[in-house]
Amino acid sequence: MTNVSEQDRRSGRAGQDAIKRLSQPVKGRIVVAQACTVLSALLSFVPYLALVQLGDLFLGAKAAGQPVDAARAHEVVGVLIMAFLSQLFFRALALIITHFADMKLRYVIRRQIVERLGRVPLAWFGETDSGAVRNAVQDDTKTVHTVIAHGPVDRLNGVLQPVVLLAFMAAVNWRLALIGVATIPLYFALQALSMKDMGPRTAQMNGHLATVSSTMVELVSGIKVVKAFGKTGEAHESYAKATAAFSRSYGDWCAPLIGLCAVAGELISAPLLLLVNLGGGALVMGAGAANLPQILACSLIAIVLPVAISAVANTAWSYQMAGAAATRLCAILDTPPLPEAAAPKKPNGLAVSIRDVSYSYGEQTQALRGIDLDLQPGTTTALIGPSGSGKSTLAMLIARFDDPTSGSISLGGVDLRDLSARDLYGAVSFVLQDPLLINASIRRNIALAKPDATMEDIRRAARTAQIDETVMSLPKGYDSVLGTDCLLSGGESQRVSIARALLADAPILIMDEATAFADPDSEAEIQKALNVLVKDRTVLVIAHRVGAIEGADQVVVMEQGEIVARGTHRDLRGNAHYQALVRQCGLQLDGAEGGDGHE
Ligand code: ADP
Repeated sequence: MTNVSEQDRRSGRAGQDAIKRLSQPVKGRIVVAQACTVLSALLSFVPYLALVQLGDLFLGAKAAGQPVDAARAHEVVGVLIMAFLSQLFFRALALIITHFADMKLRYVIRRQIVERLGRVPLAWFGETDSGAVRNAVQDDTKTVHTVIAHGPVDRLNGVLQPVVLLAFMAAVNWRLALIGVATIPLYFALQALSMKDMGPRTAQMNGHLATVSSTMVELVSGIKVVKAFGKTGEAHESYAKATAAFSRSYGDWCAPLIGLCAVAGELISAPLLLLVNLGGGALVMGAGAANLPQILACSLIAIVLPVAISAVANTAWSYQMAGAAATRLCAILDTPPLPEAAAPKKPNGLAVSIRDVSYSYGEQTQALRGIDLDLQPGTTTALIGPSGSGKSTLAMLIARFDDPTSGSISLGGVDLRDLSARDLYGAVSFVLQDPLLINASIRRNIALAKPDATMEDIRRAARTAQIDETVMSLPKGYDSVLGTDCLLSGGESQRVSIARALLADAPILIMDEATAFADPDSEAEIQKALNVLVKDRTVLVIAHRVGAIEGADQVVVMEQGEIVARGTHRDLRGNAHYQALVRQCGLQLDGAEGGDGHE
């Protein structure tokens, strides 16, 4: 059996706190629904009271040998119906309010998540398991909202209604009240026994479930690579391990429930309760301490009581399931966002200036150290260096995918942190290794930075990016949804992202050539598109072709997170170290000469 650790116990508690926090936006509605529940619970005894009075009326008339007082009987039946309907009305009103609260909460939580995900550094997505994020947005919000919106109302009703009915029973006949609740302490004892450690155990099981979900996403998303390298067994193994751990913990979770809950269920089942209450009631009546209407009313209440009580027990375990989901949601909502400037400044010009910038991924990897670099408007800067030297990280920081760990990057004399996202992305666009296409129509993908662009503008950009013909040959043309209606090749995706950058028409372009030329068939077309794209812009290009470094105004050589040389290709080409690096990067140089441009 899996050990329930102190940590799991703590996560059970954290779950309840997280539920409390997430329920804030619908607190007011829940209070109103609870008020309706109180009214409905307070009215719950009235129909039974009317029933007893009606019985007394009939029995009294029979004993006196007189006809039943019809007016009084009508009156009592009227009270019975009114009380019953009012009780139903308030209960229904509470339910309607909780359903609306439920819908509002689902909307609010999803909106908060999307809002937060929109503000976290893009680098976060690289580090975070996408399966866990999907799980949180889709499944966890579903698990949480019903419990949060319904839980407080169901719980209150489950406690208050039995208390009111019990008090009524005791007032009618305390002996019958005792018989009515005789089986309930036993029921509770068994329930408590089965629920022992359930919170932490549920948290533990949910942890295993999240692992199953994320290993499955990994397995499916990486299946091509896995198959290509014949590692199917290994990938299956981690999934199989995760499912085995989940089924073990599910077994631990269920085991105490099955036997004990079955017996507990019997104790509050209608046949047993009727037997106990009618049988016990007959004995009390035989002793002259109760009458028939009292026994009937108390027996009916005895059957109703457990329904309300078990509703509480059910919400108790739904709460535990929801606790784990709420904790995961709160963790996402607490992801530190990229700070936004309270009073954004306007850039003065388009010069990019990088001063003493260092950047680390977590504690471990320092990717950049003390980078100083200027990108003058209208110039092209080519970055070269061995793989892992920090080129992509530097490019990423200029697009503010994250903030530098120290130092500053400014655009037009204003630190990127003081610019509004609108000004920054109005000035900077990118064509990176990952074409960053979304699961939407090609039209939307191209117009991402300019949602109001006309179809004519979109097609003009696509034509320049040499992709218009391909798109028009698709059955749905520009309305084809990527991944659903069509699959684009690497080169085609790259050209869509070039079309997007062309349409965005930002003066500064950050570009990675790596995958731009991964597709030899479309190399010439991509080259044509890029030539137009880089024209008259400030360009920072992670270079993979000699052409790019030859044509650049400055070449910057990076190694282990530092700039080790800079100058024009002409200045540097004689430097032996530069030659070696350029070759190492897979670029061929012709006619290298002597000289030293090393920093
Ligand atoms: P290049 O683009 O020159 O290949 P990168 O900027 O991608 O280099 O990487 C620089 C360093 O940062 C490398 O040591 C790399 O392993 C590390 N790195 C890059 N991305 C991440 C990441 N998401 N998490 C942790 N380390 C990373």
